Amino acid sequence: MFSQAALRVCPTWLESTITSLYFRVKSISSHGFGGFHSLSKTVDHSKMKVHILPALHDNYMYLIVDEATQEAAIVDPVAPESVVTAVTQNNVKLTKILTTHHHWDHAGGNAKLLKTYTDLPVYGGDDRIVAINHEVKHNDTFNIGNLSVKCLSTPCHTRGHICYYITGEGYPPTVFTGDTLFAGGCGKFFEGTADQMYKALVEVLGSLPEETEVYCGHEYTVNNLKFGLHVEPDNTAIQEKLDWANTQRDNNLPTVPSTIKNEKLTNPFMRVHEQSVMKYAQQDDPIKTMSHLRRKKDNF
Ligand SMILES: [Zn+2]
Repeated sequence: MFSQAALRVCPTWLESTITSLYFRVKSISSHGFGGFHSLSKTVDHSKMKVHILPALHDNYMYLIVDEATQEAAIVDPVAPESVVTAVTQNNVKLTKILTTHHHWDHAGGNAKLLKTYTDLPVYGGDDRIVAINHEVKHNDTFNIGNLSVKCLSTPCHTRGHICYYITGEGYPPTVFTGDTLFAGGCGKFFEGTADQMYKALVEVLGSLPEETEVYCGHEYTVNNLKFGLHVEPDNTAIQEKLDWANTQRDNNLPTVPSTIKNEKLTNPFMRVHEQSVMKYAQQDDPIKTMSHLRRKKDNF
């Protein structure tokens, strides 16, 4: 976001007020009150369902449901009204809030949602997260019904960023990546370094099974893939995915989930070892390549 550098010197209350105002204006100017950037969609992974809920200008919230117990958790509920509607319509029992990071467009709905569902545990890795009461760290685990969740610490976009990795019988491994990994891209390095993003994308998320489904925090896919094609003009996997993503967006459909396998083929930030990507960056080192890509993308 444009003002993050300036916001670092602001007191927290002022930061959250300005940030909140920014996203409200951005959302209203694009869609009007009550408009959505995409249609809602439900992905049926057999024993786990994921309801994709659009919010604000380009955010996604995710209602994760354990089919066996009908217990549910919500990821980054910035638009609590939509969450309440989805919980009611699907007749599930909301038992947890999972927050990826403290930015307003992810954590800004926590307090309001707690007015409807009092006493819900709020998970996250940063004490700046609104209403947090279950602070987690790397490799901490908990359950949503029968679904096993592992917390993956991925500092860089913010220093307390957590990705939530879910595994079990009867559904593919699934990771909720917030603003660390996007389809075709990654979050800005607001509070971290290229070295940290390398660890997050290549060592932590890159070591998950290739079939892992990836649900990210924003609908940025088309622009990310355009940048990817700028970096690697001969990468046919990127061109094919961009064609597909354009069709999805023409129909107001989400471009999530992706997979770790697909990200390794199409996401330049996960491809910093590739000769073609290092050549674009004119670097011989993956971390320097990561740093160069981020600077280029910030001005793309
Ligand atoms: Zn963010």
